[in-house]
Amino acid sequence: MIDLRSDTVTLPTQSMIKAMNAAKVGDDVYGDDPTVNELQKLAADKLGFEAAVYAPSGTQTNLIALLAHCQRGDEYIVGQQAHTYKYEGGGAAVLGSIQPQPIDARGDGTLALESIEAAIKPDDSHFARTRLLAIENTSAGRALPMDYLPAVRELADSKGLLLHLDGARVFNAAVFHGVDVKEISNHFDSISVCLSKGLCAPVGSVLCGSADFIHEARRWRKMLGGGMRQAGFVAAAGIVALNENVDRLQFDHDHARALFEGLRDIEELNMSEDSVQTNMVFLNCGNRVATELAAYLKSKRIVISAGNSIRMVLHKDIEIDDVIKVTAECKKFFSS
Ligand SMILES: *Cc1c(COP(=O)(O)O)cnc(C)c1O
Repeated sequence: MIDLRSDTVTLPTQSMIKAMNAAKVGDDVYGDDPTVNELQKLAADKLGFEAAVYAPSGTQTNLIALLAHCQRGDEYIVGQQAHTYKYEGGGAAVLGSIQPQPIDARGDGTLALESIEAAIKPDDSHFARTRLLAIENTSAGRALPMDYLPAVRELADSKGLLLHLDGARVFNAAVFHGVDVKEISNHFDSISVCLSKGLCAPVGSVLCGSADFIHEARRWRKMLGGGMRQAGFVAAAGIVALNENVDRLQFDHDHARALFEGLRDIEELNMSEDSVQTNMVFLNCGNRVATELAAYLKSKRIVISAGNSIRMVLHKDIEIDDVIKVTAECKKFFSS
């Protein structure tokens, strides 16, 4: 099976399996799991923060961040298509009484500074208190421009807003720009990073921030049911993810580029070249054709996500031969 639905389908590496087998563990809710503690310290160091907390998912680390930064009746500004707004079940509103204020993103994935500024509410009892700005990087496979980050920090500072990064795939952004990930993360008050996507860990995300913020975050994690006891067994794979699997993201990016090059002369596919920056390729061919293409590919043991657009995600378990096969099958489908 060639599975292009997401990079979350990656299986752990041999090195991870070995590390998981050998992990020393304890009760992490008491702070006693040496492997979880090591992962948290490693993540904080790599991303340039005082502290970090390990949690079962990126949905939970984002939610913890929103709950720890905002009070009931506060508001966060977020992209209309952002994961923290659209794809997390409305958690901040449901569980935190935090009002989202979504705004449209531009084609490059950024939220225009003017739009952010226009959405900030005055200090007036009619309004929720605008407290936080949440940014996503990468966003639909695009790495935000590096010069956007200090600009958005400056705006947040001038308006007294906190700044959270949903950095589920922030290492893809760092690899795309050829920078140390700290050059991205150091503009934010907190960052959530998925270990379970292109970095290949079986489960888990880390949330990084100041020591005080992470102290508060641990309380929310417990409340949300994210205290995992002997979590060192999976955290061990997270350590390998950060130490060994960052550089290999370049292969996924190269494969995405190869897939794009292979598909670009199919007339029926509407593809934009500058959207292919990291490990994702998006194709537009209309909902009906997309559904038919997905069904055809499935009969060839290739699975993709198809809706209004098609998303193909490259990852460790996709080799260049798979890319060639997918390209050939797509061409066959459109020529018949
Ligand atoms: C996957 C993802 C998340 C959430 O991660 P889960 O571990 O699947 O809950 C958050 N934000 C973005 C941008 C993601 O792609």
